[in-house]
Amino acid sequence: MDIPKYALDILRGLEENGHEAYFAGGCVRDMLSGREPYDWDITTSALPQEIKSCFPRLKAVDTGIKHGTVTIISEGRGVEVTTYRSESGYKDHRRPDSVSFSLSVEKDLERRDFTVNAMAYNPQRGFKDPFGGRNDLEKGILRAVGDPRIRFNEDALRILRGIRFMSLFGYRAENDTFSQMKACSYLLRYVSGERVLSELIKTVMGEHVLLGLMESGGIIASAIPEIAPMVGFDQRNRHHIYDVWEHTVRALAASERQKDVRLALLLHDMGKPASFTQDTSGEGHYYGHAMLSAEMAERVLSRLNCPKALKNEAVWLIRYHDISIPPTRSAAGYMLALFGRERAHRLLEVKIADNSAHSPRYAQRAEDARQLMHMIQDMEKSAPCLDKNGLDIKASQLEKMGYRGSMIAKALDSLLAAVICSACENESEKLTAYLKSYIALDKGAVFSQTL
Ligand code: ATP
Ligand code: MG
Repeated sequence: MDIPKYALDILRGLEENGHEAYFAGGCVRDMLSGREPYDWDITTSALPQEIKSCFPRLKAVDTGIKHGTVTIISEGRGVEVTTYRSESGYKDHRRPDSVSFSLSVEKDLERRDFTVNAMAYNPQRGFKDPFGGRNDLEKGILRAVGDPRIRFNEDALRILRGIRFMSLFGYRAENDTFSQMKACSYLLRYVSGERVLSELIKTVMGEHVLLGLMESGGIIASAIPEIAPMVGFDQRNRHHIYDVWEHTVRALAASERQKDVRLALLLHDMGKPASFTQDTSGEGHYYGHAMLSAEMAERVLSRLNCPKALKNEAVWLIRYHDISIPPTRSAAGYMLALFGRERAHRLLEVKIADNSAHSPRYAQRAEDARQLMHMIQDMEKSAPCLDKNGLDIKASQLEKMGYRGSMIAKALDSLLAAVICSACENESEKLTAYLKSYIALDKGAVFSQTL
């Protein structure tokens, strides 16, 4: 893979001034995997002030100068350059108490979390791979550098990073590494909410989320205790063949890789264990679980300092994930009218994924949601308007017909739904006539009542 010029220029600049320098960490891993790295980090023998003096004409940002990191802006892109360093202490199970600059690239690679992340590369000097990262990468193995128990005790965030790499890249954790990820997971209480959330979001977005999360429920539950009862919870319900956690992970794997959809799916059945009841035949029921899951998700996401917009969207999707929507044109029209295009899509994405992870005997439910999605996509193209403002009728006309207050908005919703699904033309007279005749019979109206 070609290393971009802006990054190579920085490496060469350091070398021309007599320093050793290597690309290191994620960019080497990604380069060897044929993936374009997100950022090109450099590790070097130069001290922070020396790094800066190599590039007098370039902007330098003191990203973490105390720990040896300077970001050099090269052709508008930032390259993080860090002095070879070693770390010690870690009293808080998260950050080293002290960082000291070290003399060799090998020593620097020792402080890194996993073998696949502990490689360095220089176009002239080749690879530095003291822990067999290349071999592990070829085999798809995630292995801690050194003793995993010690490494996860030093910094518990590494446990979540590990799950993230499994989920993103499909690595399988080596036995000892995974045992210690589980055994040390109680230390996740020392990791800040923001970091937990940021790792979790990347994890749920992974292409290999099934592999990343299926066996990791207990670990995730150490960071989010509300998840613990889901793991292994037998649903005792004919729609389900998986326990709540396995269902959750399978629903994630069946869904589009959209952040709010996946975050919602991760938490959508959180309220199931607490809302479980059994009828006399032994069948399990979960009345009100969607509402309870939404309340719990709201609390969890607030605690993790989730950005408000993402939190609200995920909570909304969770609240409505289980509403029953008949696969009819009228209901599809209502979805578009009430939720708008984006939300209607997202809710159906959630419903398709959720129902795909039910017992195959109830595959019809996922099929119904897919049909609704097709209808919605067709209607988006054909509808004369998707917004109440586009209707050929004004609130004042409705007032003349006797509508008041919130009934006006409801009537406009119904008319918009009817126009979208072609049950009524968008003409003033037809709309008034429709309004007079439709009221009690419309199935979509029943659906709108459930919200
Ligand atoms: P990406 O940038 O794709 O998220 P990455 O592996 O590059 O993944 P960064 O956070 O950019 O992750 O870190 C760069 C490198 O620094 C890692 O590859 C790893 O070598 C090292 N590293 C990062 N975080 C830790 C940590 N908590 N413990 C030990 N080493 C770490
Ligand atoms: Mg990186």
